[in-house]
Amino acid sequence: MTHDKHIHTQFCPHGSKDSMFQYVERALELGMSSISFTEHAPLPEGFTDPVPQLDSAMSKEILPQYIEKCQQIKERFIGQIEINIGLEVDYVAGYEKETRNFLNTWGPELDDSILSVHFLKPVGGAYVCLDYDANAFQDLVRQCGSLKKVYELYFATLHSAISSDLGSFTPNRIGHISLVRKFQKLFPREFDDSSMLNETLQLLKKHDKAMDVNVAGLVKEFCKEIYPPVPWIEKAKNMNIPLYYGSDAHSAKQLGQNRHMVETLL
Ligand SMILES: [Zn+2]
Ligand SMILES: [Zn+2]
Repeated sequence: MTHDKHIHTQFCPHGSKDSMFQYVERALELGMSSISFTEHAPLPEGFTDPVPQLDSAMSKEILPQYIEKCQQIKERFIGQIEINIGLEVDYVAGYEKETRNFLNTWGPELDDSILSVHFLKPVGGAYVCLDYDANAFQDLVRQCGSLKKVYELYFATLHSAISSDLGSFTPNRIGHISLVRKFQKLFPREFDDSSMLNETLQLLKKHDKAMDVNVAGLVKEFCKEIYPPVPWIEKAKNMNIPLYYGSDAHSAKQLGQNRHMVETLL
């Protein structure tokens, strides 16, 4: 694997303090030729982070520093490794206009971005960060009425993300498309979600989107699989959907983690 296109940084309020320099050193050690820093973009204007520490994403005040730091490090390693400046942008249903405005402002600074769904809003309920912890997930099940309804809401939101027009800087890669399975060992499915994942692939294809092959789930205690699992990576490959490995590293040592698990698939 010569790339890692999903990497967080010291600008992530819930990540480590490892410097971007350390991440790049690690990438060079691993012989990578290209990496993308994809820090959590500031949440849409007017949206309140539902997690207790309000630390899902970087604040809009530090975004200019992040971009500047990315530019410096990119320059510094020119000729050694390609460094893409990026963001992991949240798709929050109901905040499309704010997200489009954000992308119109900051998109010109970016080389590469990911669009991800972390927040769900049950009908008549409050937004929940679905991957925050098991309690948050439990709250979603309670608000939605059943586990299956959580999956339906997740995939409906993800499908809106894939087909949404967020302007000329709409990210063209979709993050961890099976994140709803993060707590699957605590919340076992008594239904089959294959058709929801299959439909996701169809939509990626239809909208010319690339897919984040995100190994972070493998090391999550209650998930233990890649986002998405191998059969869907294989299907996506057969459909010629562009696939990019992403470690979703929140520390330098996680960069490139478990890449051998997907190396032969991509
Ligand atoms: Zn994160
Ligand atoms: Zn994410």
